[in-house]
Order: sequence, then C-alpha cells, then structure tokens
Amino acid sequence: MSNENKHTRRRRTAAVQAGVGQDTSYKAVMPPLYLSSTYKIEGIDKRQPYEYSRTSNPTRDILADALNELEEGVGACVTSSGMAALTLILHLLEPDDLVLAPFDCYGRSFWLVRALAEKKHFRLQFIDQYDESKLDEAFSEAPAMVLMETPSNPVMRIADIEAISKRAHKHGALVVVDNTFLSPMLQQPLKLGADIVWHSNTKFLNGHSDVVGGSVIAKDQKVLDELKLWNNSLGTIGAPFDSYQTLRGLRTLELRVHRAQENAEQIAAFLDGHDKVGKVYYPGLKTHPGHKIAARQQDGFGAMISFELSGSAADTAKLVEVLDLFCLAQSLGGTESLINHPASMTHVSMGAEARAKAGVTDQLLRLSIGIEHIDDLIDDLSQALDQV
Ligand SMILES: *Cc1c(COP(=O)(O)O)cnc(C)c1O
Repeated sequence: MSNENKHTRRRRTAAVQAGVGQDTSYKAVMPPLYLSSTYKIEGIDKRQPYEYSRTSNPTRDILADALNELEEGVGACVTSSGMAALTLILHLLEPDDLVLAPFDCYGRSFWLVRALAEKKHFRLQFIDQYDESKLDEAFSEAPAMVLMETPSNPVMRIADIEAISKRAHKHGALVVVDNTFLSPMLQQPLKLGADIVWHSNTKFLNGHSDVVGGSVIAKDQKVLDELKLWNNSLGTIGAPFDSYQTLRGLRTLELRVHRAQENAEQIAAFLDGHDKVGKVYYPGLKTHPGHKIAARQQDGFGAMISFELSGSAADTAKLVEVLDLFCLAQSLGGTESLINHPASMTHVSMGAEARAKAGVTDQLLRLSIGIEHIDDLIDDLSQALDQV
C-alpha cells in the first residue's frame, strides 16, 4: 500500500489487513514468521533491506507498520515489553533535562523513572496532571519531557492530553502518552497533540495473555530515527515470534475492545448500585470526575474498572477467593476477565507512601473485563459479593 493512503482506511480495516497479501516470496496471504537471525547479502555493493534481525526483521516490521497506522504516526518501534518501550523513550533525555511524570502512574513505570533520576540520567518531578493550578508551577521550570498515562492505573484519573500538550509545546517539551489502557481503538493521543505514544503490547493489543511486548509510535521522523537507533543499540527489540502472535491478536482488537467495553459499562453500573460496594472508578460513570474529558478525548470508556468494598480488608481478601470466573492475576486486556489487588500486586513497587498519595488503598480492586457473556460475569460478581 502506498504511503499517501496509509492513514485513510478505518482502524478496524487497518488491523485486519496488516501485511495481508504482501508476501514477496510465495504470495502467502498471511504474513510469514521470519525467525532467521541473519540474511544473505549478495555482494558488498548489493544490499537488501534485511541483514540482521536485531536491526530489522520483516515480521516485526509488519507489526510496527500496523501499530503506526492505528496510532497515525510516522513509524513505530516494537520492543520486548512495555517497560522496554519506556526505557527506549527515556534514552532521548540528557542529564539536565527535566521530566514531569504523573505521581500515580503504573507502579513499575514509577519505579523506573525514579530510579533512573536517582542515577542522574535526567531530572524528575512527579506532578498532579489533573489539577490545572498545579500545572502552572510545574511548567514554570521548562520541562524537556512530559509523561502522561490516561486513564491512570488503577484509579482511572483522566488527564487532558490536548491541554497538556499545548502547555508542553510552549516549552518545546515532548509529550509522551502511555496508551495501554485504551488501545488506539479508543484513544489516539498523537491526534490530540502528543508526540510519542507507547504501549504494553502485552495487554489489549495482543489481547490473549500469551505475549509480553511493547511498542513506541512517534509523530516526528527525527524522534523516530533516534528511537530506532536506541532500540537497535540497547537491544530492546521485540522477538519475531512475539510480533507474529501480536499481529494475530491485533486483527480482532476492535471486536475485543468493543465487546469488553460493553461488558464493562454494565458491570460498572452493577457495582455502582450494589450496597456492599463503596467507590467505583470508571470514566463512563457520570459521577466520575474525569467523565467529561474522557467523553471528549476518548472513543469509548474502556474495559478497566476499579472499586472498593465498603467493608474491611478481610472482606476484600475473601471476595477475590470466592470469585469463580474472575481470576486473581496481574495484567489486563486479555479475552478473559481478571481481578487484581493493586496494593499487593501491580503497584507494590511504588512503596506505601506513594500508593497512599495515588489513592491505591488496601481495599482497592481492579477488574480487567473480558469478552465472556455479561450474565455470567455479573452472576459471578453477585454470588461473590453475597458471601462477604
Ligand atoms: C503492563 C503495563 C505496563 C508495562 O508493560 P509490560 O509489558 O508489562 O512491560 C506499562 N504501563 C501500563 C499502563 C501497564 O498496564
């Protein structure tokens, strides 16, 4: 497909058609998996696009092109994990550069930026991106990079990508958005003004809980070239087999995300009306403080819900054990529904103090809603809530 009409087809079509019918060797309809680490060079002055698989690999490139088309950037790097994607992005920074990061981001992202700042890779300030008055102060120090994660993990705060990008660009700062929670089917940060988007491909993009991977998509060619150089040099690249699996998962992304979201909307309403449930965090609820921004900047409210029981920590522990369908496990975005206890699982690396500030209480539970039948999911939650 020519470059001019790369961004003209709809997202579902782009995901389904990625690499289809483009095999140059045997005209295989589905793109083959190239595992070879190295490629034959015909002569010193007769070079082909592929020589060594760390630098580039045909299977990985098809996934990169697909993700780039979905996010509407200029190109993408595929990495070995979401954390490798963030590692790559942080290598754009110089020691004097200031990074603004959300105080309530994913626990391992929080740990990584804090640890690298302590090693003087860059300067760091954790900020509250949801409070306009605090942003003035943070931006007065001329940041070089602003990290965003919206909806935030796990309490689903919504940050305004367009407004923060405008502020950041006045200072020439790059805006970087972790789009893992929604996927490009529900949010396209580059179109809202961000410069770089990254994903844990492990989650919705692959969607079948059988790959750990990541990706970075850039809007500017110079930034992309620098990211590609670091991906090759750090060796943070994704494996061809993982790319092949992720490409397969990606083809049904739109169907999965929409079915999971439909389920999530009903579950959020069910939990919100249940007398044993305290707070429910779901941007689709009109009472959610970020509802209006989410409605404007997202193409849907997603499939992630957090909630607190009105009872004790012991009730929380009991609930996760008596659930039958909802498996207690880390991760999210798969076809199967999962439940997670952030304080002891995904957000343990933040430490108790940062958790308290971010609102990650011991009673908080996070649900990743899958694509099972809605009645079975609600029956399961209902029977479990009856037992606590
Ligand atoms: C899982 C996750 C990551 C990290 O990705 P890995 O693939 O586990 O390395 C980063 N951000 C968010 C929001 C995540 O959910």
